[in-house]
Amino acid sequence: MENIAAVLYGNNDIRLEKYEVEEPKENEVLIQMASVGICGSDVHYWTKGKIGDFIVKEPMILGHESGGIVARCGPGVKNLQVGDRVAIEPGVPCRVCEYCKSGRYNLCLDIIFCATPPIHGSLRNYYTHPSDFCYKLPEHVSLEEAALLEPLSVAVHACRRSGVTAGCCVLVLGAGPIGLLNMMVAKAFGATKVFITDISDSRLDTARSLGADYAVNIKNHTELEMIKEIVQATNGGPNITIECCGAEASVRLGILSTKSGGVICLVGCGPDEVKIPIINASAREVDIRGIFRYANCYPIALDLVATGRVNVKPLVTHRFSLSETVKAFETAKEGKGIKIMIKCSNAA
Ligand code: NAD
Ligand code: ZN
Repeated sequence: MENIAAVLYGNNDIRLEKYEVEEPKENEVLIQMASVGICGSDVHYWTKGKIGDFIVKEPMILGHESGGIVARCGPGVKNLQVGDRVAIEPGVPCRVCEYCKSGRYNLCLDIIFCATPPIHGSLRNYYTHPSDFCYKLPEHVSLEEAALLEPLSVAVHACRRSGVTAGCCVLVLGAGPIGLLNMMVAKAFGATKVFITDISDSRLDTARSLGADYAVNIKNHTELEMIKEIVQATNGGPNITIECCGAEASVRLGILSTKSGGVICLVGCGPDEVKIPIINASAREVDIRGIFRYANCYPIALDLVATGRVNVKPLVTHRFSLSETVKAFETAKEGKGIKIMIKCSNAA
């Protein structure tokens, strides 16, 4: 069994190298990798070598949005069998700390997360993972959809934490993969109106084709004009705003547009410190909430896809083979398309 991996050595330096095929340990499965999506963070590590305090010091295998087929089961595995197709939840927490025990395991200080240095990711032919963080796919759910459950889980977590429910009016700022998925999940959770913004017309076209009620390019508008337009279209402002780009201007617009008593959820990661109208938010009881990845969201994300409530398929715009990894990353860096998939085997 050959195991080629896409390894990041530092800035702009990805190499394809042979790795040992690991033997699955207790409660682990060996997975023949099929589809791995490229995420903005993978590209950031590739171009900058770090994200905040996470620095690529040692060579690191990339990839954390993935699906594959169980090739071997380690001792003790009960939930999966060889041949099962699975989605892989990439963050495995310590399981014993206060956060893990209370269910908020995304906040675990000892979580190990694929392709967050120094932890190796799944962009390779064979990868081992704890079996309880692998979710068996129904026959009609594809391995590409499995890979998309990762960003979809971010959206499920954001929509749950911000309280999206039937009849809500939701503003999504930024129409990248995360913004688009938030828009789709908000609709699946019962939002009746979704207003989405971006600075790219093509991304807004995609948003319209995926069900946005209003998709507006903020580029040629002042902040005041945008607030007016959003408030008018949403009958007094959205109850819930989900910020998915991180730009200071966007966080500001989100706070100022949200209806009094509403919620703004910050998903986008911009600069560490930004200037925001905090008194406006507090005087109007607009709650500002953050999210960090997700916890307990993979099963919901899988159900949304399996029942057809969310169709993630149109997000995949480019496909490459594992040997074309550098080309795939270049395509992602240029901002072409929406989601770039790498196929690690013929199983995809
Ligand atoms: P992306 O870069 O593909 O999408 C961002 C979109 O925002 C782009 O389409 C861009 O044109 C648009 N944009 C830029 N400035 C804007 C502005 N002022 N107003 C409106 N739109 C604007 O990224 P993505 O993969 O969709 O991820 C979105 C953000 O979510 C990133 O910052 C990412 O780091 C973050 N993220 C956070 C978490 C978390 O756990 N909090 C998880 C995943 C991603
Ligand atoms: Zn823990």
